[in-house]
Amino acid sequence: MRNNYLLFVGMLLLSSSFALASAKDEVGIHGVFVGMPENDFLKIYPQNQWRDFRHTGVNDWLTYNEPLNDPFHEVVTFYFENDKLIQWKLNDRAEVIKEYLDEFCFYQDPSLIYQAIKDVLRRMPYKDFLNVTNRQRPILFTEFYTEGTARFASSSEFIVNAGDSPCCKEGFTLIKLGMSLGLAKTPGPIEGVVAHEIAHRVLDSIRKGNVNCDAERAANALIRKWGFKKEFKEASKLFGQKKGDPAACQEVSHKK
Ligand SMILES: [Zn+2]
Repeated sequence: MRNNYLLFVGMLLLSSSFALASAKDEVGIHGVFVGMPENDFLKIYPQNQWRDFRHTGVNDWLTYNEPLNDPFHEVVTFYFENDKLIQWKLNDRAEVIKEYLDEFCFYQDPSLIYQAIKDVLRRMPYKDFLNVTNRQRPILFTEFYTEGTARFASSSEFIVNAGDSPCCKEGFTLIKLGMSLGLAKTPGPIEGVVAHEIAHRVLDSIRKGNVNCDAERAANALIRKWGFKKEFKEASKLFGQKKGDPAACQEVSHKK
């Protein structure tokens, strides 16, 4: 009896140390620990594998596909302060959005258009979100002036620093959002427009040569599926093509 008890305790100790070891491995953080210097970290998670990233002052945020090299898998973000790792999070969508927009959105926070882009990225299905925020094939959001002095010309800069992970290896999508969207008083109708344009990218309409009314309807159907029914209606009301416009596409009636 006594021997069994000791054996049991021994097994318990053994299994708990196994549990500790495997919990560490389970997060898939390959030999990385809190307090680790950023330089050592970069030997394990190289800079050229960054999915997205952000720097401000003494803070760095580095996001990777987890596991590395799997573009459609979930992501892990590492937080650094003063060149030391302070924590990591899996699927930190809010942070990935910040990193992404910092680099690829030419709108200023907190403009209504910026808010709308952010909201669409936050609300669209996660898998599609990861697909369109991939640095290998990003969407660039840029201003498109239809009035004011900038309607004649404007410039934006996009910089890739030495050592940054390669950007746009598979090309990129440019979404130009007209400043007239600012006529909206709330982000809702702008979200409808932004979601529609992102839906074209998810459906790959342009690369597949689908630039017709069917492609328009498919994009609209997709955003309703994503949950942007209300925003779609608001956008159609405010920005939709008017009846009689020769370029207008006819929406087929939708039953739920
Ligand atoms: Zn369209």
